[in-house]
Amino acid sequence: MIFKLIATTIATLALAGAISAKEKKANLEKTFESLHKDFGTKNPDKATVISGPVVVKMLRGESPGKCWQVQLGDARLKVTIEDKLDLKIQDCLARLEKLPPSYRKAFVIVSEAKKDGVAFYEDLEGASAHGSQDYLNLVKDADALVIAHECGHVLEQRVTSKQPKTLAQWKAAIKADRISVSDYGDEVAHEDLAEFSYIYACCLDGRKLAELKALSPQRFSQWEAILKAAEPLKAP
Ligand SMILES: [Zn+2]
Repeated sequence: MIFKLIATTIATLALAGAISAKEKKANLEKTFESLHKDFGTKNPDKATVISGPVVVKMLRGESPGKCWQVQLGDARLKVTIEDKLDLKIQDCLARLEKLPPSYRKAFVIVSEAKKDGVAFYEDLEGASAHGSQDYLNLVKDADALVIAHECGHVLEQRVTSKQPKTLAQWKAAIKADRISVSDYGDEVAHEDLAEFSYIYACCLDGRKLAELKALSPQRFSQWEAILKAAEPLKAP
């Protein structure tokens, strides 16, 4: 889940610059913040609607919605939008296109049978998003960085279902790396992992993986293993 708004403005960056380095607690999010602005803008793949929309009752509260089948690169996925939310399918696709190709399997996992795919809701009780291997729910303003965080939950849960020690190993990695991922990630290990998922996506997109690996080598190797190991179920 994520409550914060990942949004930076020139004003806040200027303010951050005015605070002395001593007062700022170093973390990975602050280190790679400059990558947010252009995140995903260079991805060449475009998502296309294969079919739909079909009328559905969405998983959250059986709210009326519409569901589309979508192709993005090699990935076949679903996107569902709640009827009461004023949001166009093309706006949703533009956001998903920003994610690195290796993250698309999270969209495929939440598009398995009896799931809504990437689902947009008017309201998630104050949260920007919720992610698990069963759903990836977003509000209208959830951007591609929030989606990269939620992909972390989707992929981690899929791997944990086969490798139950995944989060225990992640806790050991946090300890070994001796650097905070973000203030939000400091709260609990599975949020630390989801925050690392978004920062890794930024560094992959912005060609800063070597720098990220140097700062947080244990998280880095474990996250790459999770990205590789998480697999969608085979279509029946
Ligand atoms: Zn989260």
